[in-house]
Amino acid sequence: MMSKETTTTTERAPIVVIMGHIDHGKSTLLDYIRKTNIVATEAGGITQHISAYEVSHKTSSGAEKRITFLDTPGHEAFKGMRARGARVADIAVLVVSAEDGVKEQTIEAYRSIKEADIPFIVAINKIDKTNANIEQTKLSLAEAEIYVEGYGGSISWVGISAKVGTGVPELLDTLLLLAEMEELKGTAEKPAEGVIIESRLDPKKGIIATLVITDGTIEKGMFAVAEEALTPIRSIENFAGKTIDRASFSSPIRLTGWSAVPTVGAKVYSFPTKKLAEEAIANAKKHPAAVAAPLLRQEGVVTIPLVIKTDVAGTLEAIEHELGKLKHERVLIRIIQKGVGTIGESDVKSATGSSGAVVIGFHTKVDALAADLAFRNNVTIMHFDIIYKLTEYIEEVMKERAPHIEVAEETGTLKVIRFFSQQKEKQVIGGRVETGKIVNGAKFKIMRRDAEIGEGRIIELQQQKIKSQEVGEGAECGVMVESKFTIAERDILVPYVVVKKQ
Ligand code: GDP
Repeated sequence: MMSKETTTTTERAPIVVIMGHIDHGKSTLLDYIRKTNIVATEAGGITQHISAYEVSHKTSSGAEKRITFLDTPGHEAFKGMRARGARVADIAVLVVSAEDGVKEQTIEAYRSIKEADIPFIVAINKIDKTNANIEQTKLSLAEAEIYVEGYGGSISWVGISAKVGTGVPELLDTLLLLAEMEELKGTAEKPAEGVIIESRLDPKKGIIATLVITDGTIEKGMFAVAEEALTPIRSIENFAGKTIDRASFSSPIRLTGWSAVPTVGAKVYSFPTKKLAEEAIANAKKHPAAVAAPLLRQEGVVTIPLVIKTDVAGTLEAIEHELGKLKHERVLIRIIQKGVGTIGESDVKSATGSSGAVVIGFHTKVDALAADLAFRNNVTIMHFDIIYKLTEYIEEVMKERAPHIEVAEETGTLKVIRFFSQQKEKQVIGGRVETGKIVNGAKFKIMRRDAEIGEGRIIELQQQKIKSQEVGEGAECGVMVESKFTIAERDILVPYVVVKKQ
């Protein structure tokens, strides 16, 4: 079934994530949909709760369509996935309580959705409550620059009660309409790809991971790889815990028997043989470039000392928690002093004692002596009243202060067509630039059957027997290289340049 000639793309069910402020009703909505829309045969079989499920919904036009819901605390899972460059959700639902309107995490969720660049709809929830005020909620959305239909914008919104189910069918209709516009497609006839959404070690069963298939098909007998973790596919469980022989795009599945615990957010690839799966792991280890530019040299790590003062203890904790999530390979945040109350002299003093320290006030003031001391010592005091603004600022500071690193940027690929001669380490070859360009003087990696076998440097480039500095895509050229490794026909040379990056 995996032959290339017969591949066809077909419509793919949307994968949906539900996001929003705490207590605005995300879990209640997910529970309601799970209870009412799961195909009866599956519903009976659900043995345990896994972090995604598939439902079927009959739209108002009568068509029966499937939707996959990610049943994870949206925001966190989403961030983990983004950090790994994976994209699992196609559409988001932003849940906002009609009682409370937009809250801090509503804004954070909205930012994540925008960063992920996926379409979304707004579900104004709890409309059954006496305090519900839809108009007021729309106004608060507009104030947060989320302009819904009929309120200055084009974002679809649906009033719902996740508790009693009012409006939920309309919400699903709207979701499917949006999915249709997105033209989500998948190809069944190729090995599956997906994203890990949950993983754990079960003392009896071994390592279990749930993934959502984003494309292709996975079958019993294949092998799956997530970063360095591998598993033979002896059996596939669907979201309800039922054993199935194969699964295709948009389905959440569970695989047991991994060699290591796969990271949530890691991409999963499947292979027909163990050998291919192992080769993929070996290659990924050699070429992290496929995911991120490889680190050649690191000029150390810098620390940013922080002094944090907040109005109440709860916010201090929340801020610490949020800051804990900011990760940078070359920057560390160290809180040297923290507390509740006004920013005082002692806070500024601690900051002057540590080079590059930043004093942060959240919903709090600075006393006059402290302000004066800060001014004289050139200490920065920053005030915030929204957590994400604070973390955004710190993220910016981290970026600014991160030491430069050098990364290898590949410029293109050259396929070796002829091997002419070799004299010690100097070799003359003929090749074609398959992608990008190659530049005289560049270093290159030598790839043989997808494995890197060594390195070299271009010392002369010729195009139609004329020396040249650069040869572009599609062109053939003669190349004199210097390498300890003997190059062979059909090898691929991958030239790269070393660039400094922030
Ligand atoms: P989450 O933190 O966003 O997952 O919020 P939950 O789903 O846990 O809901 C928080 C509280 O609001 C719970 O007590 C729910 O029963 C209640 N709730 C959620 N949706 C509705 C609704 O539509 N109507 C009413 N009356 N209560 C709701």
